[in-house]
Amino acid sequence: MTLSFSDLALDPAILKALDKMGYKEPSPIQAEAIPLVLQGHDLIALAQTGSGKTAACAIPVCNRVDIERPLVQALIVVPTRELALQYATEVQKIGVEKGVKAFAIYGGEDASMQQSKLKHGVHVLVATPGRLIDFIYSRQIDLSHVETLILDEADEMLSMGFYEDLEFIIQCLVHDHQTLLFSATMPKDILKIAKNHMKEPREVSLTSAQASPQTIEHRFVYCHFKDKEASLVKMMKELQPKQAIIFCHSRGEVEKVCRSLQKQIEGVDFLHAGLSQDIRSIITGKFRSGRTRFLVATDVASRGLDFSGVTHVFIYHLADDPDLYVHRSGRTGRQDREGIVITFVTDRELRSLSKVLEKIKKEPIWIGEKPKLQAPTRRRYIPRRSK
Ligand code: AMP
Repeated sequence: MTLSFSDLALDPAILKALDKMGYKEPSPIQAEAIPLVLQGHDLIALAQTGSGKTAACAIPVCNRVDIERPLVQALIVVPTRELALQYATEVQKIGVEKGVKAFAIYGGEDASMQQSKLKHGVHVLVATPGRLIDFIYSRQIDLSHVETLILDEADEMLSMGFYEDLEFIIQCLVHDHQTLLFSATMPKDILKIAKNHMKEPREVSLTSAQASPQTIEHRFVYCHFKDKEASLVKMMKELQPKQAIIFCHSRGEVEKVCRSLQKQIEGVDFLHAGLSQDIRSIITGKFRSGRTRFLVATDVASRGLDFSGVTHVFIYHLADDPDLYVHRSGRTGRQDREGIVITFVTDRELRSLSKVLEKIKKEPIWIGEKPKLQAPTRRRYIPRRSK
């Protein structure tokens, strides 16, 4: 029997908002996580974007907020500004009928404007670590009423070097509170945070089938590095994506590929962390609304951001970290829609490819020519026999 939101003993105002948003039934992560959070447990959730993890946390948080108290009652820490805005918007939508006020603070935007907004009463605060710590130091923020602390995309925050910042933030919450930790992977520093700061956390881990949507098709194009751009254009013209993201490995490569595409195809823009926050918001807004068809981007666009119309992801430069492949490919096939990921592979990238295939547990399906070399498998350590 499928569970419905009304089985979860939620505030009618929250149910009304979910209905308006078109959320008919909880996603698997929501069905597992919401009851545990409502019961007050600490929670570690191994979940990827696209699984509905934002609402898995925003629903019980909004449910718990006491709107009569204009105080920060839930604190959500996220790695990037884009994610902070997206999270705050989701909380605002889920809490709108109840009157929950959510707000995001992040670097790169005028701090005084954010401070004055905070004075007007915010129930749920979403923040990037740096700006939050600035506010804590300058005593602009009162965290003494926080009942729920959420660390979202925790693995990403750690890989960005925020370990000490997170420790500091957690230690600022000296009173009893609930902690929810969401992460796509579980590196040992996360387990350390969990062990040091969480109380008998419950764990929710989606099976890989649920976590990585089966609606995504993975295809590979083998090419010489000099022919990559031409292969990309050819594939874009042939496949005619409704919307696509093209992932590159550096800001320089993003701009180069974007310039070249703009000469041949319409509706191409680029995104990387070197752009000002205002420009980044405009670009992501245009892409989300469908006004931009193709976005050439660094991994600033690979995590968390919800671009629900993306039908294709092109991986122009395969990273050595297979988790990055999972994050990048998760930009398409959202909420069980179909999506196609096309990766361009040169001889030098065959080793990275074998790690990716191991991760996604798939045999490669090549479009066109296959590589002459075999993707190297991981070398096994064979102990030498003593003479
Ligand atoms: P997330 O994994 O939080 O980035 O969510 C991915 C997408 O799923 C977002 O566009 C959400 O609006 C959408 N979503 C989340 N929960 C549900 C639900 N229960 N029903 C339908 N859509 C949902």
